[in-house]
Amino acid sequence: MSHPDGGSLRARWRSTLRLGAAPAVLALLLSGCGSASDGDTDAAAATSVDVAASFYPLAFVVARVGAGNVNLTDLTKPGVEPHDLELAPRDVARIGESDLVVYLKGFQPAVDDAVASAPGGAALDVTASARLDLQGPPEGGASTPAGDAGTNGQAGDGRGTGAIDPHFWLDPTRLADVADAVAGRLEQVDPPNALDYRANAEQLRRELESLDQEFRSGLATCRNRNLVTSHAAFGYIAARYDFDQVGISGLSPESEPSPQQLKAVTRFVEENNVTTVYYETLVDPAVARTVADETGASTAVLDPLEGLTKASAGSNYVEVMKSNLATLRAGQGCS
Ligand SMILES: [Zn+2]
Repeated sequence: MSHPDGGSLRARWRSTLRLGAAPAVLALLLSGCGSASDGDTDAAAATSVDVAASFYPLAFVVARVGAGNVNLTDLTKPGVEPHDLELAPRDVARIGESDLVVYLKGFQPAVDDAVASAPGGAALDVTASARLDLQGPPEGGASTPAGDAGTNGQAGDGRGTGAIDPHFWLDPTRLADVADAVAGRLEQVDPPNALDYRANAEQLRRELESLDQEFRSGLATCRNRNLVTSHAAFGYIAARYDFDQVGISGLSPESEPSPQQLKAVTRFVEENNVTTVYYETLVDPAVARTVADETGASTAVLDPLEGLTKASAGSNYVEVMKSNLATLRAGQGCS
């Protein structure tokens, strides 16, 4: 497939490099940068499967499963909050030109629209393989177990009360299932490299299952099982490792808690001896700090892995998850 816009392609490669792609992909991308330096095209003719992933955890999976065989574009640039993603016309064109688009339907409406209008490009919606089955808290509502702040979801934004929580990738076993689905689709798109895709997915599954085991043993015995977070992104961690998540804001990081909701969370923190309130990398920490200041709790960064930046506590999904585990063990008093 030819790429007439060599400049924007190089910009994408740079952003892919910062995402910590697997070494084989890096080598490929670096050689691609060199041969495209004249502004001309078709840098990767030998390995011509073009895959677009809609945000970081999916890009991580594609980079690992497709290592050495795919040209990867992450549609969400580093540092951009993926919930808010807007696509430039060239991104929409890229989606149309890709051999495969890997995305999560319903998470990023701009990507859904571009996939729906793409002329015959293949797309893999990972909803089914991710087993997306967890209900989030009411949008904009603090989800305290006491329930006195949790029933006033805002209507009309399409993500009202009881929306499905999209953040499945924080459960490593679900990400392993998505890796299998990606491998299955890449085998169809590129049959000559089917064995590579299968072997890479199996290797990634072993790493993710080992990570899951570390979480299970590391979080088995903790003084406090209430997870108080700024944006309610950690439901899949809570569900798998037996915590109750109390999100100060809703599923979407733009939602702001009302004064009553803040008061309810503050009371919850005090009454349940919560010592740490978590906030996250891509979102303003003010709300978490307000609750912490009121209660004397500490704050700590828990990374929802919606994107990587230079400030991330690791250079890929597995490293940042291990940092999250260390943060949780300290914040929840795990032995
Ligand atoms: Zn999120």
